Amino acid sequence: MSFLVPTLYLLSAVLFILGLKGLTRVKSARRGNALASLAMLIAVLATLVEMGVVNYTFILIGLAVGGLVGAVAAVKVEMTSMPEMVALFNGSGGGASALVASSVLWGSVIEPGSGQTAVAVLAHAPGVTTVLSMLIGALTLSGSVVAYAKLAGKMSGNPILLPGRHVLNGLLLAGSLGLGVWAMFSVSDPATLSMVAVLVLVLSLILGVMLVIPIGGADMPVVISLLNSYSGLAASATGFVLQNNVLIISGALVGASGLILTQIMCVAMNRTLANVLFGGFGMEADAGATSGAAAEYGVVRSFSAEEAALVLENAESVMFVPGYGLAVAQAQHAVRELANQMEKRGTKVAYAIHPVAGRMPGHMNVLLAEADVPYEQLLEMDNANPEFRNTDVAIIVGANDVVNPAAEKAPGSPIYGMPVLEVWNAATVIMIKRSLSPGFAGIKNELFEYENTMMLFEDAKKAVQGIVTEMKEL
Ligand code: NDP
Repeated sequence: MSFLVPTLYLLSAVLFILGLKGLTRVKSARRGNALASLAMLIAVLATLVEMGVVNYTFILIGLAVGGLVGAVAAVKVEMTSMPEMVALFNGSGGGASALVASSVLWGSVIEPGSGQTAVAVLAHAPGVTTVLSMLIGALTLSGSVVAYAKLAGKMSGNPILLPGRHVLNGLLLAGSLGLGVWAMFSVSDPATLSMVAVLVLVLSLILGVMLVIPIGGADMPVVISLLNSYSGLAASATGFVLQNNVLIISGALVGASGLILTQIMCVAMNRTLANVLFGGFGMEADAGATSGAAAEYGVVRSFSAEEAALVLENAESVMFVPGYGLAVAQAQHAVRELANQMEKRGTKVAYAIHPVAGRMPGHMNVLLAEADVPYEQLLEMDNANPEFRNTDVAIIVGANDVVNPAAEKAPGSPIYGMPVLEVWNAATVIMIKRSLSPGFAGIKNELFEYENTMMLFEDAKKAVQGIVTEMKEL
């Protein structure tokens, strides 16, 4: 029997890794998700077996409450609010780790006057990891709540740059870590230990808030994936506290993959992680950058759905470029219908996906998969860009920053250097959005004024449906 639990843990770890592997490709993502869920189920069951006979009342209550909240949230959440939900999930993960580590600490009842320290009582739980779990877990919780508030518009998305914040953050980090480790190894009085533990939690919560408030709204998805990584690190540290191998492994996997994703997104925005964390997006924009107000535009050509349909009728190849507006309008099914219409006429159809299009990593892939768009038609940016020169019509559906030529042509722009989709190289560009409003970066997009650009000002879903209706009549 003694081999059962380690074997189940090993099986679960292997399934987690296979699950992650599956998530690297759109085609295998569902299977990856299912494998990771199975891994989690096995890990939970094995942990229950390892714990032996315990009181299941609280476990069942926790399962019921958590399961219900999760299920209702998953059903009700709009695709556009997914990043907020992910932020809250990360925060919950961090909070859970901090609570588990704290409960282990408080559970290690030190006999008053025994002269023992927490580390001596918790002989099996390495002291430093207990403190780390509390620290990282608590800062993930408060940081994620701030990220949620910024994304949900419950607080301003502007960076809040307090003077001397780096020094203050350094002091908060050193203070909570130093105090915690000192107390674990040196304090033998239970009352003092409890007080220090509360102080460590409070300092860490403040640190989480301080780390996220200077980050601007446009960088929030990067921070979410970083916080996701932190929640994994906190879980891994908790794995050491509980001496639970599968928690150490799964936490490390989340920590590492979150970090890789953060790096991918930074590269896609041509930013360093340090610049995202300490920069404050838009603060460094020079006089060459413009705000994107409608008044700044010269000649912009507005067209109707009928005119767009006429152009599309003769196109041999089209490239759809989805963006945040597609998600807002839930236009993915309409886009698929238009693509079907085009294919029936023998037009070659493809989709160009920018890594940070939308408001979270993989946002566009998820939406297009929902509309059963064939995976092989999705082109990543590096493969899509050379294709635009051979494309008759690029149809931009609710995207803006990710197709802004300023990224290549305007050295003063805040997005200068960010890799973008070079849609302007297509013979004709049809740009669907509701107005001349800017995208998330809040800057002007000269593509609107280009001679080969046709602006179609309407809600993305209505506009695409309108084109489909017109095409059917041609
Ligand atoms: P943008 O935010 O640049 O633009 C979206 C456009 O959609 C807006 O200009 C808006 O114009 C339009 N829109 C909104 N609602 C609708 C609607 N119902 N119908 C039609 N159009 C609509 O989106 P992109 O996807 O191009 O760019 C993503 C931005 O987010 C980039 O700045 C990127 O750096 C940033 N970002 C994304 C990350 C990610 O992980 N995905 C990470 C970090 C940053 P209008 O109001 O006129 O309709």
